[in-house]
Amino acid sequence: PKTVFSGIQPTGIPHLGNYLGALANWVKLQNGASPDDRLLYSIVGWHALTLPQDPKALRAARWEMLASLLATGLDPRRSIIFHQDHNPNHTELAWILNCLCPIGKLKRMTTWKAKLAASRNANDESEVDESLLNAGLFTYPVLQAADILAYRATHVPVGEDQQQHLELARDIADSFNRAFPKPKKIFPLPQHMIPPSKRILSLRDPSSKMSKSSPDVQSRILLTDEFAQIQAKFRSAVTDSQLGVTFDPVNRPGVSNIVTILATCTDKSSEMVAELYTSKGHAQLKMDTAEAVESLLRQPREEFKRLKSETGYLEEIAKEGARRAREISEGTMTLVRSQIGLAQST
Ligand code: ATP
Ligand code: MG
Repeated sequence: PKTVFSGIQPTGIPHLGNYLGALANWVKLQNGASPDDRLLYSIVGWHALTLPQDPKALRAARWEMLASLLATGLDPRRSIIFHQDHNPNHTELAWILNCLCPIGKLKRMTTWKAKLAASRNANDESEVDESLLNAGLFTYPVLQAADILAYRATHVPVGEDQQQHLELARDIADSFNRAFPKPKKIFPLPQHMIPPSKRILSLRDPSSKMSKSSPDVQSRILLTDEFAQIQAKFRSAVTDSQLGVTFDPVNRPGVSNIVTILATCTDKSSEMVAELYTSKGHAQLKMDTAEAVESLLRQPREEFKRLKSETGYLEEIAKEGARRAREISEGTMTLVRSQIGLAQST
């Protein structure tokens, strides 16, 4: 049987990239799961703290994210849906794994390198203002490894941007198994499951991915956007000055991104969609894509509106999810503590 684990940060309403790159896949996995498979989906509040968060906004975002997950089709009877911060086993395991993870590996994470680059002195490139970089930002890939390994997950459906972190999680699992093999190797090596639409790009800057945390709200389509907003955002999406439509992600990232979105929404390949639009204009492509996105998001949007005010229900789901999650991770932690010499007894 499979154990599937994945997480999403409560840093805002999920966007089309989250939906196509992760959430839709989570639901598909859930609906195709066999009865003895285990599925865990977590709202990872501790990860959100690596960047400054306003407490009031974070509180709201945590509930909105739970409502969003249910609205996209996750079913609490089949999936364990919970807040990471309701299960302290994640941080306990993260500490232990931190003590097994060489800092050299963390320094090679592209997410870390990007943060470093962003904090370089504009006048003197060799000067990095490290006071702007908190320690959590450096070690959060280890917390992510702990999220996965606490449940001894075998499958991790995440977008392409998380691939390197998952490789680190495999590495850390392997290090733990080698360092503490007795009486048994505790961790399976988790496998990546990348969805076909690996990476949806920003509508305003196709050199970066669509992100919840980008300050430009026009850069992403939200799960809660009405059709008119979806249309407006596609209309203002950055493409290029070349006539016609081709699928060429390297030279035409903006147009190709929209092709990919339309292709994913309509279950076609990007090449096939590009072919259908060769002689059509960008405007036509954009408006057809807006319509395809609308028909995909309409139902989750309406469901989100309904669920958002059901705070009692949401609280109940979170509580029950946390209970079930803790029950599983406690089993792992009992083994971990015992094998490393921290057990209470004997
Ligand atoms: P933030 O900017 O706060 O990091 P995010 O949009 O990157 O937000 P996360 O919560 O970090 O979202 O990631 C949740 C899931 O969505 C992950 O599996 C991630 O790989 C996936 N994901 C995020 N952005 C995209 C994207 N643009 N295309 C495809 N998948 C994505
Ligand atoms: Mg992210």
